Amino acid sequence: MNSVLEQPSPSHDPLEFMAWALKAYPDAVMPSAFNLNGIVLIDLAARAGYTGKVIFVDTDYHFRETLQTRDSLKTRYPQLDFVTLHAGLPLDDLYLTDTDACCAARKVAPLQHYLAQQNPSAVLNARSRDQANTRADIPLIEHGGARVKLNPLANWTRVDLEAYAKEHELPVNPLYFDGFLSIGCAPCTRAVRPGEDARAGRWAGQGKTECGLWVGQNAI
Ligand code: SF4
Repeated sequence: MNSVLEQPSPSHDPLEFMAWALKAYPDAVMPSAFNLNGIVLIDLAARAGYTGKVIFVDTDYHFRETLQTRDSLKTRYPQLDFVTLHAGLPLDDLYLTDTDACCAARKVAPLQHYLAQQNPSAVLNARSRDQANTRADIPLIEHGGARVKLNPLANWTRVDLEAYAKEHELPVNPLYFDGFLSIGCAPCTRAVRPGEDARAGRWAGQGKTECGLWVGQNAI
């Protein structure tokens, strides 16, 4: 692999940045929950020549529409390697009493285990700054931790994402159009109300904003 230092400076143009990222980190993989951001990222990556893994963690509690969106994307992008991970746990009601523990066991642990086996140097990620106050400082490239996080959509607004999805006729999760601007597991996701940020419907009322994949001691 060429040294990142030998690559030209990353462009803020998302397609140019993606092309740079794939060249600088050819072993990068892409976790995805197939939200609007994630679908735009998949399309950008495919257009830039990505043929790598798109990794989904099936917690057993996803909406049917999310699984259908994944299947639509698999059909649309046959050049990508869609991987579904599963914790192998029986159904329980831990999410009613301890969402941190439930996320850690059902979502974070399977992905951590998979990444430890694959050991990619970088992960492609679809987070953007305007999703929530807690994401307001996301850079294009995050160093530190076990691997580099590449965030080509960091600068994108929801308006940008919706326009891109419409222009390219992307298979957006139909729940999005019912106000589910960020979609996680069914028991822990509600539609967003007027004036709320895109992630306000996740673990609403619990003071929890992240599942633990991107922040905290077990972040990937
Ligand atoms: S989002 Fe809810 S159901 Fe899904 S893993 Fe986290 S706590 Fe469990």
